[in-house]
Amino acid sequence: MDELAINGGTPVRSRPLPPQNTIGAEEKQAVMDVLDSGVLSKFLGTHSEEFFGGPRVLEAERRFAELVGARHAIAVNSATTALEAAVQAVGVAPGDEVIVSPYTMSASAAAILRNAAIPVFADVEDETYGLDPAAVAAAVTPRTRAILVTHLFGHPARMDELCTIADQYGLAIIEDAAQSIGASYHGRLTSSIGTAGVISLNRHKIIQSGEGGLVVTSDDTVAQRAQLVRNHGETVVDDAGWVDQIEYSLGSNYRMTEIEAAIATTQLERLDGLLEVRRNLATALTERLSRLEGITPPVVGDGCTHSYYMFAVRLTGTLRDDIGRAMFAQALRAEGIPVAEGYVRPLYLQSIYQQRSARPGGFPWSLRPDASISYEPGICPTVERLHAEELITLDVCRTPLEPRDIEDVAWAFEKVVAGAGSLLQRV
Ligand SMILES: *Cc1c(COP(=O)(O)O)cnc(C)c1O
Repeated sequence: MDELAINGGTPVRSRPLPPQNTIGAEEKQAVMDVLDSGVLSKFLGTHSEEFFGGPRVLEAERRFAELVGARHAIAVNSATTALEAAVQAVGVAPGDEVIVSPYTMSASAAAILRNAAIPVFADVEDETYGLDPAAVAAAVTPRTRAILVTHLFGHPARMDELCTIADQYGLAIIEDAAQSIGASYHGRLTSSIGTAGVISLNRHKIIQSGEGGLVVTSDDTVAQRAQLVRNHGETVVDDAGWVDQIEYSLGSNYRMTEIEAAIATTQLERLDGLLEVRRNLATALTERLSRLEGITPPVVGDGCTHSYYMFAVRLTGTLRDDIGRAMFAQALRAEGIPVAEGYVRPLYLQSIYQQRSARPGGFPWSLRPDASISYEPGICPTVERLHAEELITLDVCRTPLEPRDIEDVAWAFEKVVAGAGSLLQRV
């Protein structure tokens, strides 16, 4: 057996993995066309045609709506602001509760706080890491107004069960599909299943425009409110006569430029190819890792497709209990494979929740002095176990990586698992 690199053997890989770059000649041309036109943005915060943005923004919106099968897409400058707009647009009011996963990017929950509403964290399930429907049902109170669900790592959450709970209690569902563009659930693309969905176009995501995001929805009222939030709605409702939307009109500037919109539309042409690369590499890696004792590769649920924003594996048995994830991950890194331990710290452990203060004076919790909402360590045991002991995440299923790169990754896992006995002596 080959000596593990951590014990002084030769690493499987000495070359670093190349970074992703999805930008090519078409994007360059699209940007030059915008610059030549002289119109870098066409938004105006008035009741006018320009309230809805310029030609590239409208084109991007049409194309993303068509892609996901929603009536509307509203282009904004990030998925973070898209989440803020979506929470406002579905009608969440100050002091309302929104049930959200603790295992998601910080912005999913911060968007709730920025709307003066209160995040209530429910645990995730340990197969595909989406919100656990049973935990969500147990978290509903008379003040719950919405569920904000993240399709983590690119795998759809359990939307049938979550939509049933939402229908039962009259809740909105916002899908954070920042990581899951192109992933489908029972024949529908993520972001188009709930009341509203959010797509990210930041530089880390499957397709990008540097920064950028969209709200997608098939609800005309939600779409109109998202447009108001994006572009100074309070100056527009009076002239437009949208008196029924005054309470939802307080706006900001979340506008996307024509440059980003042109890049985003061009990137859409690449989406199928980029997803195919991700899925092919992930399938090959899953096949190899599934033969290893103590490694659980990503599961794809019935009727689902995965977009593999991240490739997440779970450790079990002696790898988890005796060797421990830290040692196992260190051994993989020594072999030249970049791995992360877990994902983000469960969000309720952030100081803002521990101190219950997002503004001086304990806001927005101060709006609900009698509410019993806990952020104690232990409230979501599955997420804490996954994060502290079991999950290893890799960003290896993407362009420009090739099957021979995946071969290195698989071989490193095989080598470290085979040499696990020598790791036991180190712990
Ligand atoms: C990246 C990401 C966001 C935020 O996206 P931005 O476009 O950077 O604002 C939100 N939620 C999740 C789950 C993400 O992965």
